Formats: sequence, structure tokens, C-alpha cells
Amino acid sequence: MVKAIVGANWGDEGKGKITDMMAKESDIIVRFQGGANAGHTIVNNYGKFALHTLPSGVFYDHTTSIIGNGVALNIPVLFEEIQSIVDKGVPMPKILVSDRAQIVMPYHVLFDQYEEERLAGKSFGSTKSGIAPFYSDKYAKIGFQVSELFDEDILKDKVERVCKVKNVMLEHLYHKPLLKEEELLDTLHEYREMVKPYVCDVSLFLHNALKEGKTVLLEGQLGSMKDPDHGIYPMVTSSSTLAAYGAIGAGVPPYAIQQIVTVCKAYSSAVGAGAFVSEIFGEEADELRRRGGDGGEFGATTGRPRRMGWFDCVASKYGCRIQGTTDVAFTVLDVLGYLDEIPVCTAYEYNGEVIKEFPVTSKLEKCKPVLTTLPGWKCDIRGIRKYEELPENCRKYIEFIEQEIGYPITMVSNGPGRDDIIYRKSSLGGTVEE
Ligand code: GDP
Repeated sequence: MVKAIVGANWGDEGKGKITDMMAKESDIIVRFQGGANAGHTIVNNYGKFALHTLPSGVFYDHTTSIIGNGVALNIPVLFEEIQSIVDKGVPMPKILVSDRAQIVMPYHVLFDQYEEERLAGKSFGSTKSGIAPFYSDKYAKIGFQVSELFDEDILKDKVERVCKVKNVMLEHLYHKPLLKEEELLDTLHEYREMVKPYVCDVSLFLHNALKEGKTVLLEGQLGSMKDPDHGIYPMVTSSSTLAAYGAIGAGVPPYAIQQIVTVCKAYSSAVGAGAFVSEIFGEEADELRRRGGDGGEFGATTGRPRRMGWFDCVASKYGCRIQGTTDVAFTVLDVLGYLDEIPVCTAYEYNGEVIKEFPVTSKLEKCKPVLTTLPGWKCDIRGIRKYEELPENCRKYIEFIEQEIGYPITMVSNGPGRDDIIYRKSSLGGTVEE
């Protein structure tokens, strides 16, 4: 069976921790979209890791980790990451790379930087990892597929085409050094040698694994708000962040995905530009940022301070709906233990009207939060393993949010570690049981 682990919000919800935890009972973990532009932070018995490309299941020796065809594959970054975990004592993971994955080229990273420079103040807050230029080229059909590394004629022909197109822009739009065909070919040959041992027909591998009754996890990057179709366009990422895309970006039948665990953080944070209705500022935001996550809310890839806000029921309800949620994993709840009262955004005010359904971006930018305040629980809830043992106000916070979003919270995460999890029976159903 296939399970997807995806984000309800803007990313950084703690998907890495939930994937690492669920990987214990799984055979195969697949990354199906995105690239090295965002990171997952994982804390386990080997230490603390920031993964950018590898799936969050690489820490077990019984799992196979797969880079699916939907991923923006930066080959040197992947290999540095493998080396860095092996250097910290993690056994060499079993890794497969889809023969249909496409490759992030050095010029994608450069174009990302050049475009941000050109847009100056009007940029989209790119992490400059080449993701947007990569996906643009994929759909413009001038991307390099891993399989093409093994066909010299295709490579030569495409390198020539790419240089022709890119050099016009480099010369006339960006005024930067031009690409050289030989250099690009050399790079592609290096990549071929690096990736060769791992290349696999992944959809066939998964087809056979599923026939044998194996459990497959699809690990999403970022969250619903960053989806190019259903998110806050244009302040979105360049590949779909939705569980449905897992079928495409890994190569499994859509109906094989039986469980969709949507990870939802107990407060909000976002990186990059874009409307963020429940955002808070000043000392209130600084304190939550300092205490948030595991060691503060700063980007795992970029170190950028994240924008902070109260829990947004409107955005999260929508985020869960668009994912097709069967279960909500409610994370980082322990962080809120310092607050006397906890504001929650339950609706938006748009043009004097109160709305509960998440609007399109042009309207979203004009929305103001409608806040309700719930009492805090004023204690440390880390270490608690039974739902009934949580303080009453903490349970009330969870149950209030569950009612507002309308999806079952079957897991509550109260710490960054693998074991910091409380399973819960929800009156709304759900498929995850302890
Ligand atoms: P991801 O991209 O969705 O995997 O999220 P990140 O890894 O960027 O951010 C989640 C951060 O919160 C990481 O530093 C995790 O170690 C941490 N984390 C995850 N779950 C919990 C939790 O329940 N409590 C606390 N305090 N930290 C958590």
C-alpha cells in the first residue's frame, strides 16, 4: 500500500520527522517533487540532520530511498548529502534514482540568481537553487533526463540547442558570461559516472514492490499553499506539492494511495513572499520564532528567519481538503506551552464580510484575520505519550482546531524526536492507528 506524507500549510510543518517515524514500518520511501531548495530537519539516534534531496527514510537499514521522476535532481548535491550522512556514522543507504528524473544543471542555479537580481525588490523570494528555471526547461522540453546521460548523440544535440537558447538570454537580458558546449558536455559526463550505479526504472520497481505487498511512503516537500495550481500563485513553488502528484512524480497508480497524512503545524510559519493573513510581528513573532521548531524557526536550507503567525484554520482547512487528507499529524504543539493565551485565526474579513473559505490570491491579499483566543496550558508537554495525559487546555486546543478544519487529528507531535508522538482516536475517523 502507498501512503503519502504532505504539508497542509507553507512547508516546514515537520514532514521530515513524521516520515522518519513512519519509515520504521515501511519498505520504500520516495521523494516525488521539488529539489534541494527546501530541507527537512530530522533528529534521531545518529544526531541532527538537514536533508534536502534524500528522502527522510535513509536512516534505517531496511528501507530503500528513491528519487522519483518528479524531482529536480541536483546530482552533486545528492552525493554530498549521502557523504555527509555516512560521515556521521549512518550506514550507506540503499538509493535508487529514477531514469526519468531530470537534472538540475549549473546554469539553472545561475539563471535563478540572475533573475532574482534582475527583479530586485519584486522577486518571488527564490532560494536560488535553480528550481524554477529547471521546471521551466522541463516543460519547454529542453531538460536533461537521467536516461539521456547514456546516449551521447542525444546529449550533443541537446547541449547545442540549450546553448543557443540560453546564450541569447545571457548576452542580451542578463549581460553575463555565455555557456560553452564542451564544458556542459563534460559536466554531463561527470554526472553520468556519479549517478550510474543508482539508475532504475522506478515505476516498474514500485509496481513489483506493491505486488509483493510492500509499503511505500511518498514524501512531499513544502505544503498546499505552495502548490502552483491550488496555492497562493504566483508565490508558489514550481512543482505540485499535493499528494495527488505523488502518483505522477513517483509513478504509482492514483488509487494505490490509500492514506494521506497531512502534516499541520500548531502555529504558522512561512518563508518567501506572499499573503500570510495570520502573520504576527515584533516581539510576539520573535519570541515564537526563537522558541519554535527545534532550535528556532530558521530555514533548513537557507538559514533565513521564517515569517511567523498564529494557527490559520481557514488556510489549514483548505490545505487539508486539497491534499485529500485521511489523517492530520498535528506537530510542534509543545512549543506553545509558554503562552497564557493562544490566538487562533478562525475566519478572514474581506471587504467587511466574514469568510471561512480560502480565497484566490488577489482576494487573500486584502483579507484580515478574525481571531479567537483560547487559554494556554502553561507547561511542558514533552514526554507525554497518552492523549488523556495532556493538560485539559491543550486537548481543548487540539479539539477546537480539529472541529474548525474538519479533518481527523490522529497524531500529535510533542517534540522533534522519533518517539515524541501521541496517537489519538478521532471522532472524525482517520486511518492511522497506533
Ligand atoms: P519539514 O520540511 O516539513 O520536514 O519541516 P522542517 O524540518 O523544516 O521543520 C520542522 C522543524 O521542527 C524541525 O526542526 C524539526 O526537528 C522540528 N519538529 C518537528 N516536529 C516537532 C515537534 O513536535 N516539536 C518540536 N519542538 N519540534 C518539532
